[in-house]
Amino acid sequence: MTNPSKAIIAIHGGVGTISRSHSGSAAQEATYHKALNGILLSAQQMLNEGGSALDAVSLAVDLLEDCPLFNAGYGAVFTHEATHELDAAIMDGATLRAGAVACVSRIRRPLRAARAVMERSEHVLLVAAGAEAFAQACGLELVDPAFFSTEARRAQLQYAILAERTMMDHDGAALVFRSSDMLPAPLDESRKLGTVGAVALDSRGNLAAATSTGGMTNKRCGRVGDTPLVGAGTYADNRTAAVSCTGTGEMFIRGVVAYDICARMAYGSQTLDAAAQHVVMTSLPALGGRGGLIAVDAQSRLSCPFNTEGMYRGHARVGEDVYTAIYAGESIPGSN
Ligand code: ASP
Repeated sequence: MTNPSKAIIAIHGGVGTISRSHSGSAAQEATYHKALNGILLSAQQMLNEGGSALDAVSLAVDLLEDCPLFNAGYGAVFTHEATHELDAAIMDGATLRAGAVACVSRIRRPLRAARAVMERSEHVLLVAAGAEAFAQACGLELVDPAFFSTEARRAQLQYAILAERTMMDHDGAALVFRSSDMLPAPLDESRKLGTVGAVALDSRGNLAAATSTGGMTNKRCGRVGDTPLVGAGTYADNRTAAVSCTGTGEMFIRGVVAYDICARMAYGSQTLDAAAQHVVMTSLPALGGRGGLIAVDAQSRLSCPFNTEGMYRGHARVGEDVYTAIYAGESIPGSN
């Protein structure tokens, strides 16, 4: 039995603090809203035409990876060694099948490779050269690692090295973008976490989640964050929820954040929003974790909590308007 009215897609483009130099740049805010809006419209249309949740999150993350405003795929951050190492994961809530890649630097579209791992291998997570060889064997596009490089991200690395610290993927970029001709982004690029992700419920009642990231600027080579780890940064189970996270990956791993939300629903009979709010506002801060997530359940309820000043986010139910938001306190109809 299908129920298209419940079908929903939600996306995020990372969390962060409000840019000090932003001072309410309506033009730049509009750029972000427009990008989120366009991506949501495409995925909403796919769901409206009977597309699956898996296909909808794949499409949304494909488009987010390609959008230069968000740091995944092209424009990925640099490791300490000035290389790129990308992570991505996808999970099917109907079957609990999952696929992920980590530490890849030559796969043009990491999320597609994650989906290939899920659908075309007997494994869940492939890393580095092995993941790239598998992607190539699957006919996916490989690129020179320099494809992902931008001058802005290189300058961001230099800033991080000077500051002698590891920075989230957008940390340090504000400095870079401020020095360019670009208008400042609504969220401070020097303190933003730029993972992208999507969750969806389709008309058949199936849930799916997908997440993709460049990780953290100045990270140690070989470091893997929460994004490609099933249960940490990405999780989907038709019986509970689909979850995609963004934030300080190490704490999301330690808190097994995405799965914790589903476990609270399954074992504690918590609502999606109660579970998500508790994890993001209480459990994560107790570990020093900063970030947020998007989550939908099988009843089409949506929760998008974050413990930072903003999170690029939006959602679209089939047959309804598209809603996008950036800052905390912005109310989005139809979400908690
Ligand atoms: N969670 C990501 C990581 O730790 C970072 C982010 O959300 O931007 O790799």
